[in-house]
Amino acid sequence: QSSDSLRFTVAKVIVVGDVAVGKTSLINRFCRDRYEKGYKATIGVDFEMERFEILGVPFSLQLWDTAGQERFKCVASTYYRGAQAIIVVFDLNNYYSLDNARQWLDDAMIDNDPSSVLLFLIGTKKDLSHPDVFAQTEQEAIKLSKEIRAEYWAVSALSGENLREFFLRVASLTFEAR
Ligand code: GDP
Ligand code: MG
Repeated sequence: QSSDSLRFTVAKVIVVGDVAVGKTSLINRFCRDRYEKGYKATIGVDFEMERFEILGVPFSLQLWDTAGQERFKCVASTYYRGAQAIIVVFDLNNYYSLDNARQWLDDAMIDNDPSSVLLFLIGTKKDLSHPDVFAQTEQEAIKLSKEIRAEYWAVSALSGENLREFFLRVASLTFEAR
């Protein structure tokens, strides 16, 4: 039913996960590497706009980052509401942060339509990972991602590994799902 003119050109993408897993680093590293410094508004949350062109159509991701409220587990519902994609972040070196990922997802889903929102499960700090620990955590993460129907990616904000590929994937999938 949706005509092209009604389709959105900006997708709201929210980033959730335990404090210090690397959410802000992930967004900043990606956005600053491609542009000087994106627009940033402080309205209790911060967001960065990242522009893409997909199939010749201008398309932007509005990446929402908390201003540290996740420390108190009281992220406001305005933060979650109307998201086209949810990025659940955990630290590959911190098993508890993976354990908490499901709770973050449940909270984020309260104000969203499960049939239309896209989910991504992201393991960060890949550069720090001891190969054995990494393999084990990753196995659990892949299991969880299948359960919750999320796409799983392991990235590093420090080295930049997989970051660009990951955000391009988020952009193209949200674009397709409009
Ligand atoms: P947030 O609380 O989830 O936003 O986490 P931050 O982005 O503030 O990062 C928390 C800490 O982890 C900071 O000291 C970062 O420098 C560090 N960090 C974030 N991403 C990476 C990464 O990919 N590799 C390494 N080695 N450290 C990281
Ligand atoms: Mg942060």
